Amino acid sequence: MAALSGEAFRKSIELYVRACKILVGGVNSPVRAFQAVGINPLLIAKAHGPYIIDVDGNTYIDLICSWGANILGHRNKMVVEALADQIDMGLNYGLTSEKEIELAELIAKAFHSIEKVRFVNSGTEATATAIRLARGYTGRKKIVMFEGCYHGHVDYTLTKAGSGLATFSIPKSAGIPEETTAHTITLPYNDAAAVENVFKKCGDEIAAAIVEPIAGNMGVVKSSSDFLRVLRGVTERHNAVLIFDEVITGFRVTYGGAQHIYGIWPDITCLGKIIGGGLPIGAVGGREDIMNRLAPLGPVYQAGTFSGNPLSTTAGVATLKQLSPAVYERLEENARTLEEKATAILREHGFNVVAERAGSMMTFFFTNLKDVKNYSDVQTCDRGLFARFFTRLLHNHILLPPSQFESLFLTATHDKEVINEVLRAVEDVSRELVKHGS
Ligand SMILES: *Cc1c(COP(=O)(O)O)cnc(C)c1O
Repeated sequence: MAALSGEAFRKSIELYVRACKILVGGVNSPVRAFQAVGINPLLIAKAHGPYIIDVDGNTYIDLICSWGANILGHRNKMVVEALADQIDMGLNYGLTSEKEIELAELIAKAFHSIEKVRFVNSGTEATATAIRLARGYTGRKKIVMFEGCYHGHVDYTLTKAGSGLATFSIPKSAGIPEETTAHTITLPYNDAAAVENVFKKCGDEIAAAIVEPIAGNMGVVKSSSDFLRVLRGVTERHNAVLIFDEVITGFRVTYGGAQHIYGIWPDITCLGKIIGGGLPIGAVGGREDIMNRLAPLGPVYQAGTFSGNPLSTTAGVATLKQLSPAVYERLEENARTLEEKATAILREHGFNVVAERAGSMMTFFFTNLKDVKNYSDVQTCDRGLFARFFTRLLHNHILLPPSQFESLFLTATHDKEVINEVLRAVEDVSRELVKHGS
C-alpha cells in the first residue's frame, strides 16, 4: 500500500515525523495513526461546516466528524458564540454552575429512562462509572457484555470471550490482570439464546449487562428488537441493571437515542460525544433509585475536577437546542441518499458491499454476506479493498474513517450538494479500481 507522499502532503509528513519523536506512535489515540489503511496520517489545521483542512491546505469532505461527536458541522455559529460568552465569564470553577443543570434537564427531557444525571469527562468515564454504580447498587460482581461493542478503554470491558461460554473473559490488552476481567462475561452480539443461557446459569450473580443498542464500534451493526427485548426481560427478572451505552447513538440516531427507536428502556444510559458540542464530556443517567447510590448521596464514590465544566456544558446546551425534528429529517434524507446511491454505484462496478445504517451513521462493509449481525460477520470483510477505497477517496478529497470497522457520520451541514460530491468521488474511485484490477 502506497504511503501518502509528494508535495501535496509535505507538511503532514514533516509534522508526523516530528510527532513520532515525542508522541507515542505520533498520536494520542491509536486509530488516528491510519494503521488499518496502511498509510501515514493526515495532520489537521482547521475545519468548518462539512469540511476539514489538512496542514498542507488540502480540503476534504469530513465523514469522520470527530467520531460522531460533531452533528451540526464544524464551528457551528451558535456554539462558537455561546462559548465566546462563557469564556468571558471564566473557564472552570470547580463548583456548580447553571449550564450543568440546563444540560441535564435537556437530556432527561430527551430520554424517557433518565431521571437523574451525573456528568463526567469522557465516554470511558461514563461506562466505568455506570459499571461501578451497578455493582454498588446490586452488591454483585459479574457483568455481561457483547463481542464487538466498545465501551471506552475501561479495564473490565477490554475483553475477548474466553474458552467455555458463560465462564469468564480474557483481557484484550496487555496491562490488565486476568482477575480484572474474571467477572466479565462476553457473549456474541444479537444472540438472545446466549443471553438467556447465561442468566439461567448465573443470573443472580450478574450486576449488569452493558450493550451498544446500535453498535457503532465494529462498524454499524443494529440489534434485533428480539435481542434487546430478551436482554431487558432477563435483567429485570434477575434484578440486574441494564446499561445502554449510547455514547455514539445518543442524540445521533434520533434525539432520544436508540432506546427511543426500539421502545426498550434501560435502567442506566451512558452518553458522551454529541452532548459536549465538540468539547470533552460524558454522562451517566438513569433511574433515580440507582443514580442516588452515587456520592454524595450514596456509598458509590465518583468525582471529577472538570466534570460538568462550564465550557463543555455550554457547547452541549447550544448544540442540543438546535437539534430540531427538521434537522433529523434532513440528516435521514441525506444519509439515505448516500446509502442507497453509493451501494448502487459500488454494486454496478462489481463490488460486494452491504451498507448498514442508523440515521446519519453508516458503514459500507465489503463482504459477500447478505447482512451483518455480529462481530464474526464483520470479520469477513475485505480490509485490503477498504484500504484501497479509503486512500483513493482521500486523493479525491473525501475523508472516510480510516478503518473498515468504524462508522462514518454526516452532520447538518452535509447537504445534497456535499452528498453528490461524495457520490461522484465514489463513482470515480470505483471506476479507477476496476480499471486497475482491484
Ligand atoms: C466513543 C465511545 C466510548 C468512549 O468515549 P470516549 O469519550 O472516547 O472515552 C464509549 N462507548 C461508545 C459506544 C463509544 O462510541
